[in-house]
Amino acid sequence: MNIILLGPPGAGKGTQGKILSERYSIPQISTGDILRANVKNKTALGVKAREFMDRGALVSDGIVVGMVEDRIRMVDCKAGFILDGFPRNLAQADVLGKTLAEAGKGIDHVIGMEVDKKTLIKRLSGRRVCRKCAANYHIVYSQPLNQGICDKCGAEIYQRDDDTEETIGARLDVYEQETKPLVKYYTDKGLYRPIDGMGAVDQITKTIADAIEKGKHNT
Ligand code: AMP
Repeated sequence: MNIILLGPPGAGKGTQGKILSERYSIPQISTGDILRANVKNKTALGVKAREFMDRGALVSDGIVVGMVEDRIRMVDCKAGFILDGFPRNLAQADVLGKTLAEAGKGIDHVIGMEVDKKTLIKRLSGRRVCRKCAANYHIVYSQPLNQGICDKCGAEIYQRDDDTEETIGARLDVYEQETKPLVKYYTDKGLYRPIDGMGAVDQITKTIADAIEKGKHNT
């Protein structure tokens, strides 16, 4: 099963991607996490990507598309994958569709995580992330047991460079202009499954699982 999690920054794609990955035993592919790992390791790709990421802009399609194509060819993606943060514009969606079609595959479900802007800003400005396993926390809603330490792996928790007030605004604008057109793109293909991304994590997971089940019967 090949799933895309679509939604603005802060919609919960990372959180739900991790849960769904365990539930369906397929990997979560987060382009943001892959890019951040490259930035951290100061690879050539990371050095190029950083200047875009720090100002909330999209990294060039050439870099990101190649990265995703390499990843979905890996053996652990044979039974499927969950894309989190990709595609981010129409050009990326077109290439993805073509690459999968050439391999005799396709996207099964596009989960549209819908969250209002005020909530997105609250979530992003208070978000903290584990440096090692990328687990998500929040200074109010989801604190770790020990301050600054990840419950899952014991590594340090930090605030992403792009979770600052001004960069959050830029990222939400980029979503509206570049990524939102994908809602119509996938609706026209009969793949878009909108879900309410507000509320408790467990409830949202259930809503997504229901949407996937329902989508299976409708396609
Ligand atoms: P995310 O962790 O998904 O919020 O992504 C963080 C940043 O990584 C974005 O603001 C972009 O700069 C970059 N990025 C992640 N995914 C993509 C993508 N599919 N296309 C271009 N840039 C991306």
